Amino acid sequence: MTAARKCPSCGSEPSSSLGEVKKTMDHSFSNEPFSIVQCAPCDLLYLGQHLSKQDFVHMYEDSVQFAGSYREEETIRGAKEYYGGCYEQLLGDIEELWTAES
Ligand SMILES: [Zn+2]
Repeated sequence: MTAARKCPSCGSEPSSSLGEVKKTMDHSFSNEPFSIVQCAPCDLLYLGQHLSKQDFVHMYEDSVQFAGSYREEETIRGAKEYYGGCYEQLLGDIEELWTAES
C-alpha cells in the first residue's frame, strides 16, 4: 500500500489507518489500495492516498453513470442550486450549534 498522505485539514502526519477501502469499480487506480485514515490531532477521516487526474476522469467523465442529462446545462444548473442550498443550510446549522454552545 502507498504510504498515507498528511492530513489535508491540519497537515499532521497520518495517525492511524482504519483499514482499506473496498474497491467497487473494475478499474486500476493510481494508488491502490486506498485506506481510510483518522487524524489524531483533528479527528478528520480522510482517504489516505491521492486520486490522480486520470482516476477522476475515469470515475466521472468516462462513467456511464453520469452520461445523458447529467451533462446538460439545465441539469447542471439545477444541481448547483440544490447543492448550494444544502451547503448554505449546513453552514447555518453549524453556526446555530456554535451559537448555542457558547
Ligand atoms: Zn488533521
